[in-house]
Amino acid sequence: MTTVGVLALQGDVREHLAALDRLGVKGTSVRRREELDACDALVIPGGESTAMWRLARTFELLDPLRDRVRTGMPALGTCAGMVLLADRLLDGAEGQKTIGGLDITVRRNAFGRQTESFETDLEVTGLEDTVHGVFIRAPWVEEIGDGVEVLASVEGHPVAVRQNQLMATSFHPEVNADDRLHRLFLDTCC
Ligand code: GLN
Repeated sequence: MTTVGVLALQGDVREHLAALDRLGVKGTSVRRREELDACDALVIPGGESTAMWRLARTFELLDPLRDRVRTGMPALGTCAGMVLLADRLLDGAEGQKTIGGLDITVRRNAFGRQTESFETDLEVTGLEDTVHGVFIRAPWVEEIGDGVEVLASVEGHPVAVRQNQLMATSFHPEVNADDRLHRLFLDTCC
């Protein structure tokens, strides 16, 4: 059975574990290297990417995370998790680094300049009905590489993307008990 880890350094870990549980998937929190090694796939939650990046360094998880993502571990990043999966980052904190893997440029807090938080219904490629997207100081994708598929956009800005076994959303599919995005990740990336 597939074990899906949820990076549990900071952020809405519980909500992702609950979504995995509802889908009948074995979810487990990941704080240590051995816990990461035991996972077949990983969810990087929403929260604060700067805090997660600092804690990942402190817990000596940054390089192991990079290695696993580079060698093909499926990963889903939501909001701060999207920031962490991006190869290139704009408006990061001083010195902020990412795990990378997704050939995208992400602008952190991008919607923040217009409105801090908002909700909107989104068409998502691969899903029949719209998804209610909750955006909280959300990033957007500013540039995508050749292999990246845009799954959803808001006002022309990509907010859900997929590249092979990696997927990321600017919004929080974990907060409203609609598990279709997690299902899409499991079905198409894992
Ligand atoms: N603005 C946060 C960051 O840069 C992300 C916010 C969120 O995950 N809701 O990490």
